[in-house]
Amino acid sequence: MKIFISADIEGVTGVTQWEETEHGGKDYEMARRQMSLEAAAACEAILEAGHTVVIRDAHNDACNILPDLLPEGAELIRGWMCHPASMMAGIDESFDAAMYIGYHSAAFTNTSPLAHTTNLKRYNYIKINDRIASEFTINSLWADLCGIPSIYLSGDEGICGTAKEEYPGIVTTAVKKGIGSGTWNMHPKAAIRQIKEDVAGSLGMAHSLRESSDHYVLEIQYKSHMDARSASWYPGVTQIDAHTVRFESKRFYDVRVAMSFIG
Ligand SMILES: [Zn+2]
Repeated sequence: MKIFISADIEGVTGVTQWEETEHGGKDYEMARRQMSLEAAAACEAILEAGHTVVIRDAHNDACNILPDLLPEGAELIRGWMCHPASMMAGIDESFDAAMYIGYHSAAFTNTSPLAHTTNLKRYNYIKINDRIASEFTINSLWADLCGIPSIYLSGDEGICGTAKEEYPGIVTTAVKKGIGSGTWNMHPKAAIRQIKEDVAGSLGMAHSLRESSDHYVLEIQYKSHMDARSASWYPGVTQIDAHTVRFESKRFYDVRVAMSFIG
């Protein structure tokens, strides 16, 4: 099998404050190291089972993972590809399964102090088909478009719950729990060990593609009414109140492309 991993940082064990997620911030070096090691743990399980793996760095400038911490055999995609798949750019029909490492709770949820969806400064929430959408929601729908099942996710407890509700059969590892502006974390080494074990377990299970919908309704509520007005000019977008716009299509592809212009 050929596995695609999308890796973020806010759902990595220990990471609690925004500063820790930004180049030059307090404890950023600690956070990126743990992100690298959690990603490496997943890669090791995949390679040891005889599969191939490509990992996409999907946080901030997409240059966080320390390549020398990955096992030899893993390939790493750094930087953005100017592609609507964004955090999934690089995936195509040649892959057999998708995994998510370091994922975090969505905007408009209270299960992580770092809860957000794609752009933390711009949105109150993103909804797809009337449900709060997380980055996992959006990215796994993109994998669905490529015919690729999402089989594993690690991150905070909130996003693990979301993933299980949205994708039957997905295996998850909750490495921390968010409470108010705090986090309750697994030991870094225990998280690495657990991720490796759970990824290995997910590879041995039968996974099928989730049933697709024939209609997608995207709703974005912006923090600023100016952003809602700007977005309203995108073809097909309707503004439903001062801060909120909607876009509908039969194809998720159209929704994702719209998001990359109005997001
Ligand atoms: Zn991130």
